[in-house]
Amino acid sequence: MGHVFYRRLTRSYPLAVRGDGVYLWDAAGRRYIDACGGPVLVNIGHGVAEVVQALAGQAGQVAYVHAIDFSTEVLETYSDRLAAIIPLPDARFFYLTSGSEAIEAALKFARQVQVARGERARDKIIARWGSYHGATLGTLAVTGEPRMRTLFSPLFQDQPHIPSPYCYRCIFGATYPTCELACAQALEAEILRHGPGRVLAFIAEPVAGSALGAVVPPQGYWQQAAELCNRYGLLLIVDEVMTGFGRTGRWFAMEHFGVQPDVIAAGKGATSGYVPFSITAVRQRDIETIRQAHGDFSHGGTFSHHPVGAAAALATLRYLDEHELVAAAASRGAYLGQRLCEALQDLLCVGEVRGLGMMWAVEFVADRTTKAPFPPGLRFSQRVSSLAFERGVLLYARYGTVDGVAGDHLMVSPPFVITEAQIDEVVSVLQEAICDAWEEAR
Ligand code: PLP
Repeated sequence: MGHVFYRRLTRSYPLAVRGDGVYLWDAAGRRYIDACGGPVLVNIGHGVAEVVQALAGQAGQVAYVHAIDFSTEVLETYSDRLAAIIPLPDARFFYLTSGSEAIEAALKFARQVQVARGERARDKIIARWGSYHGATLGTLAVTGEPRMRTLFSPLFQDQPHIPSPYCYRCIFGATYPTCELACAQALEAEILRHGPGRVLAFIAEPVAGSALGAVVPPQGYWQQAAELCNRYGLLLIVDEVMTGFGRTGRWFAMEHFGVQPDVIAAGKGATSGYVPFSITAVRQRDIETIRQAHGDFSHGGTFSHHPVGAAAALATLRYLDEHELVAAAASRGAYLGQRLCEALQDLLCVGEVRGLGMMWAVEFVADRTTKAPFPPGLRFSQRVSSLAFERGVLLYARYGTVDGVAGDHLMVSPPFVITEAQIDEVVSVLQEAICDAWEEAR
């Protein structure tokens, strides 16, 4: 098919020609329910005219200026709106185009703050296994998905990783709450292993995203992690690229835990996919530390602070607000979770159904008692999503759940505009697809 270098080399792709709400259509006239919002980002749905008009209007007015020469009205307005909802005091926003870039900027910002504070020896960033922070070499250094990083590890400076809070497969063999949050205590042990003056930041997703599948940490985890960062002088970087802009039923997932980090990276849902746009949110007091020590933040990007991106983001924010879609993500998300649990609880290959808001995942197991995963070569979750695709429902299949190689899960994360009837249809197709894939695997 032509000259496109495709993401998957072993399949052919239908041509997508139209989107409207939760639906997509291909050139053959087939209709799909987008029940994952791509890789979890189409929050407001497809084909929203307000966003299209806003970005076209901005492109007609001023499509591009270099961010070292100009600001734009749309950027200023958007930043004011965002400052009012982000759980970060006195926030300032650096804009880029992808989640990976927002994370890269966050890592560089944290390092520069520490150096500006006179803490040049701090050169380590603690991250978690079972995390995904991006596809670039810098973000792979903190990503905790072995299958994504091993091939490229000679090309980046690896960073220390600790276990994720993942109660279904607790690595400490413990159960909450008697575990006393061993997963949070692991952060302190790792800080001390390197020496308290060596670690500059801790980075994690508030609710684990694609690598583990919608794993919500136990109560107290985030408070303890934040307290440790504070005690040992680390910046707390929270990766809200997937969870931001309403996905978990709050504007930002950290609101569930009542913790204010030092840096928040966001992307995906910021524009709901209409144009690439991402955000590194930081505190003014830390910018001031850099300004006094170094003058400027050492970072750049040809497409940084893009006015068309800001126009799409502003229109997306307004749409979420005016249609009360964050509350809808919470309420319809609760319905989705309930329907998934009811429909899948008796299927022996379903280990766990978990999630928050409109971010749900199903983890598959070959044996429910031992929690043994399917052989990795089977790509069980991929098979389930292919069968659902054939029936017109899009789901986000992932693997490597258990140890970065073995284990399967699949994310169900539709746009917040999905109706209960559409949720019922998605759940019924998913149930059939799982049964068929399980039948084939036996
Ligand atoms: N961080 C998280 C939590 C993500 O889910 C992703 C993408 O899936 C990224 C970072 C990287 O974002 P992008 O693919 O836009 O570079």
